[in-house]
Amino acid sequence: MFVSKNLSVNEKGHLTIGGLDTADLAQKYGTPLYVMDEDLLRENCRSFKQSIDRCYGGKGLVCYASKVFCCKEMYRIMMSEDMGLDVVSAGELYTAASVGFPMEKVCFHGNNKTDEELSMALEQNVGRIVVDNIFELERLNRLACERGAKANIMFRIKPGIDAHTHDFVRTGQIDSKFGFALETGEAFEAVKKAISLEHIELLGLHCHIGSQIFDIDPFVLAAEVMMNFIARIRDELGYEIKELDLGGGFGIKYTDADSPVPYDSYMEKVSEKVKAVCAEKNLNLPFILIEPGRSIAGPAGITLYTVGGIKHIPNIRTYISVDGGMGDNPRYALYKSKYDFVNALRASEPKSETVTVAGKCCESGDLLGEGAPIQQTEEGDIIAVLATGAYNYSMSSNYNRIPKPPVVMVKDGTSRVIVKRETLEDIVRNDI
Ligand SMILES: *Cc1c(COP(=O)(O)O)cnc(C)c1O
Repeated sequence: MFVSKNLSVNEKGHLTIGGLDTADLAQKYGTPLYVMDEDLLRENCRSFKQSIDRCYGGKGLVCYASKVFCCKEMYRIMMSEDMGLDVVSAGELYTAASVGFPMEKVCFHGNNKTDEELSMALEQNVGRIVVDNIFELERLNRLACERGAKANIMFRIKPGIDAHTHDFVRTGQIDSKFGFALETGEAFEAVKKAISLEHIELLGLHCHIGSQIFDIDPFVLAAEVMMNFIARIRDELGYEIKELDLGGGFGIKYTDADSPVPYDSYMEKVSEKVKAVCAEKNLNLPFILIEPGRSIAGPAGITLYTVGGIKHIPNIRTYISVDGGMGDNPRYALYKSKYDFVNALRASEPKSETVTVAGKCCESGDLLGEGAPIQQTEEGDIIAVLATGAYNYSMSSNYNRIPKPPVVMVKDGTSRVIVKRETLEDIVRNDI
């Protein structure tokens, strides 16, 4: 009935998450409020891990892409699920270190890591630094040399694949700020160089072809392109690339228009392709990494808001204003991302209204959705935006000096705060 399977309706007609009444959560913690369901998070981690076990003999690692939602408790949960992590900044790395995350399972991404970040990664003994460009390769070699260390790296490759997704989130093509191009020979030259550098250990190749992808074919094609490149490196340079990281990008259901495939089938088809190329070219099977982000955290989260004023503009539209907006969820403002809206107090009723949900920022573009179906809604009602577990809290800002909402985790019929609500004192904390 709802886009995520952890959502239901109780006998009062209220929306529930992980079995808890969202109206009670809103009352207890206030709104706006992010709510995450721990069981679904864990289940999503396990389904990816099990797909690697089943299809690829367990010869792989699932790395959670931190950027979708990063906080200490999230990392503790990932740690207890035996997951690896993708981090892209000193801040994410610091968060991982602060909970004692096993650094050999961390991949450090980013197209412009600073010397400070690279040094921190070396100091922490991060398992894999994903080198994006030749400048970074040289800087990293120098920094590792200064420490008398050897940096374990992968190269980010642009496999040149169009994954049919929104332009803003497409990253696999030649016109991308990320990685080395294959077509131009740039990637091959970089591999040659890396092999020659004393303080660099080239472990693997990485690609990430986009986000919110529903087709399996682009992933299979990417795996094929990457495996062929690995074969070429073996043939022409006599060097064995042992690891292949195929990135994330698995689509989730935001509205009924989305139909994600079971995650098992990605691994199944990708494993088949990797094994086929290995057999054909007489290569050893590489260790495979995948980096799901949205598909782990997205469906596990919702955001609750209290409805303030409602404006019916005759023959034009109805605006429902909520007590949050682009500060806690900038995705509609950035990408016109579609969400499902539910009046949490009337969740079993039919959606009889079509509304524009507006935030409270001083900005006409501060909307959460337009043309959105919702149940009859009045001032003071609680509305839920579904599947907001990814790229919401992590992309939030203090625009208009609005404090960030807290994140509450539900599990086994109880709830706990995992990120506190910001206070007005927090807002002025760094002001001189
Ligand atoms: C964003 C990103 C991911 C995660 O993408 P999702 O679409 O959230 O699964 C994984 N790897 C890299 C390198 C990324 O940039």
